[in-house]
This record gives sequence, C-alpha cells and structure tokens, in this order.
Amino acid sequence: PPRMRFAPSPTGSLHVGGARTALYNWLVAKKGQMDYGKDTESAFVLRVEDTDVARSTKESENSVLADLTWLGLHWDEGPDMPLAKYGPYRQSERDALYSKIAQTLIDEGKAYPCFCTPEELEEMKARMEAQGIPPRYDGTWRDADPKVVAEKIAAGTPYTVRFKVPPGARVVIDDAVRGTVSWDAEATVGDFILLRSSGIPVYNFCVAVDDACMGITTVIRAEEHLTNTLRQGLILDALGAPRPRYAHCSLILGEDKQKLSKRHGATSCNQFRLDGFLPDAMINYLALLGWNDGTDNEIFTRDELIEAFDINRIVKSPSVFDMDKLKWVNSQHLKKMKVEDILHLVEEQLHAKDMIKTDGADEKKVRDFVFASTALAKQMMETLQDAATNAQEVLGYNLPSSYEDLSDGSEAKEMIRQGNFYGISMKLLEMYESNTFPMPNSNNFLAAFVDESNGMAIVEDTQVGGGDDATSYPQQYKSTMKLMAKEMNV
Ligand code: GLU
Repeated sequence: PPRMRFAPSPTGSLHVGGARTALYNWLVAKKGQMDYGKDTESAFVLRVEDTDVARSTKESENSVLADLTWLGLHWDEGPDMPLAKYGPYRQSERDALYSKIAQTLIDEGKAYPCFCTPEELEEMKARMEAQGIPPRYDGTWRDADPKVVAEKIAAGTPYTVRFKVPPGARVVIDDAVRGTVSWDAEATVGDFILLRSSGIPVYNFCVAVDDACMGITTVIRAEEHLTNTLRQGLILDALGAPRPRYAHCSLILGEDKQKLSKRHGATSCNQFRLDGFLPDAMINYLALLGWNDGTDNEIFTRDELIEAFDINRIVKSPSVFDMDKLKWVNSQHLKKMKVEDILHLVEEQLHAKDMIKTDGADEKKVRDFVFASTALAKQMMETLQDAATNAQEVLGYNLPSSYEDLSDGSEAKEMIRQGNFYGISMKLLEMYESNTFPMPNSNNFLAAFVDESNGMAIVEDTQVGGGDDATSYPQQYKSTMKLMAKEMNV
C-alpha cells in the first residue's frame, strides 16, 4: 500500500506547483486506500519541513494547511495529529530523532565528527579553487584516530557530523517521470554534513530520515529536488531503508514559457479561491497540468481522478499554466453543480464585495437573492465572481417601474406580495434551464415582470426577439431579479 507524503516548507503560501505536488501524492494515496482498504498503512502524510527556522513561520504553515483543506486534500497523518504512529509531523519537533540517528551512523562507522573550524574550511575551499578542482570537503577527519576524536569531544570542541560517502558508491533511481537517473557519488559530493555544530540537522538528512522512519513508499515532488536524491539516497542506504519510488515533476511555466511566478498573475491557491474558482475545478485543472489519462477527457470529478491517475503517465515536458483553460474547466464544473452546493460560495463573493446589506436586511430574502444570482450565473459564469458581477449589474439597473405597476392579482405580484422569492427564483431557473423563458406579451408569469414592471425599456435594450435568442434570457432574468432585489431591500 502506498504511503505518500506532501512535505511543504512553511516559508510562504501554497502556490500552484505545491498544490499540484500535494494533489498527485494525495491521488496515489487515495487510490491505495481504495485498492487495499482504509485500514492499511496506506496514507497521505503531511509533513511540515520547518528546519529553516529563519524562514519558517506559523502563519505560513496555517495558510498552507488551510489551502490544502480548501482544495479538499485532507491528510491522514499530519501536524495536527502529533501522536499518530509516525509522528510528530513537524521536523522542528523531531530533533531528538535526528541526533539519535546521527549517533547511530557514527557508531556504525557511516558518519563521523569533523572538527574543522569555519576558517579551515574556507582555506580548504580556497586551496581547491586555486588548483582548479571543484571545492569540497577533503576528508580531514574521515579516518581520524578515535582517541583524538574522543579527547576533542570530551574537551567540548564543537563539531559537525559528516556522512562518510562510501568509496565507489552510486545512486541509481528509476524515476517514474525521468527514467533512470544515476550519480557517481564520489565524483559528485564530498563527505557532507548531517548535523551542524549547533546540533541542527541539515535538510537532506531530515528528509531521508523522515522518509525512512515514516515508511514512505513513493515520493512525488518537483524537479528542483532531483539533485537532492543523491544525498538522500546515500543516507537511506546507510540507514538500511528501502528507497522510495521517485517521480520528479517538471516545472510549471507561464504563457511566456518562463517559470511561473507572481508576475504571471495569480499563483497562490488562496488567490484562486478569492477569484471564484471551485476547489473541484482547481483539482481537475492541476491534475491536467502535467498528466493526462491518454484520452481526450479533460473533465474529471475527484473520484474519477483517483481512479484514473497514474504516476507513470506524468508528462516529462514542462506544463504551461493556461488561465483560460482553468476558467473553462471551472465553468464546466459550475454547470454540473447543484445551485444549493455553490450558494455559500457565491454568498462569500457577494460579501467580499460588500454587495449584501448585513444590517436591516431580511435574511431569508437575502438568501433568496443569492439563490437567484447563483442559479443564473451557474449556467454562464466562468468563475464565482461572475455571480457577483451579475448581481452588481442587477442592482445597478434603473427600473422604470416597480411592484406597484404589476397588475393586481397576477401570479408575479402575488408571489412578491408573499415574499416568495425562492419560488420566483425556482420558476426562473426552471424556465431558463428548459429554455422556455416566455416572450413579453405572452400572458404568463415572467411576462408579468417583463411587461409590467420593467416596461419595454429593458426588453428593447436586449432585443428580445425569437425564442432562441439565448443571450436575451439572462437579461430578462436579471431584470426580474432586480425587481426582487428592490422589493426585498437587498
Ligand atoms: N520541503 C520541500 C519543499 O517545500 C519538499 C521536499 C521534498 O518533497 O522532498 O519544496
């Protein structure tokens, strides 16, 4: 059963690339739980890599967790469950483990204390640079006399713990995306540091120890971590731990083929949330950003993604982030959703834009107004923001006439009198969806609004003509909503 992990460094907010990494790991874990049962060890583990004390913040951690939650990428094990079998899940809380394992490696002759001072290391570097060889640790303390070492430690001399790169060591991985990647360890790295003299473990050591101790079977992560695999692989080998299967995903680029960054627009998950994207659409689009199922299918539900996702079908070439495509995917998901299921999201948008009066307004009527906005927008909008825009437009209408002008006893007047805006919304939705919006002059429900309350102004405006003039329907809808809004004091 796959044990997957997402290992964010809490130094900023969750951006598109991180979210994609989290998603791919989550999908494999969920598939594992489907195939092997929920009670197996198969899990999506959230591990917070906060060893960089200077750059890690609690706010960032909280925001990353909130964004993952918004995306629906719920973790089975994580920092909020410190006592779970493999916890704690924050590296800053695992220092004792790293020290213990470093000591074990020393005892086994796989690592050793190094007493070189920063000045000595500087000199070493300068010497090598002068000789034209790439600077690296020259192994000064590698085969030191154990007696000297013991004396130095007893005297309290500060030391780092260095990994002893085994002679002739190679690390070869079969990467699910990049194929076979191999490193000649000796030719590539010198004996590298595991623990700094302050006792603080280095990043690659933590990652390798954690992947081993947490029983991680598969690592999907960004290409930028590929080179770390050498050091991590050496450490895992020294620990006698099996290496996870790796998949290093290619970069995400902006439309100008440069690495995706802020100047390309929204890149953080929270911004997409504010901009009115649905988590399901986000997930769907992120999945496609570097993966396909081999067919033309582009719209997937969460469950379909879990079923279809295959680590071996992650594409090797960089993906280009395409905002229009994301909007399209979002619109497809919106169309399929029930109005009830997006109501709260639209309400969020309306509130964010201060479009709903909170004091003095009749709550039920406000809800009905939101319902009507949503029902309409759902069919046409690309993002939830469009619902707000629609509503804004509606509220901005200058109606020539009003409720009082409706003919007494008409169904519309009756419904408004009763405050039955939900009923009106439903009726409008029904008509909209079945494409049976009545034309003005016909003696029925909507015509009452169009003719009697809005007068011909709006109708002429939108040139309501034949029954198949689809673009005019929203206008009719909106004008009706305006009346509702006015009557209900939204
Ligand atoms: N903490 C790393 C990051 O945020 C991820 C390391 C890994 O996945 O191995 O980029």
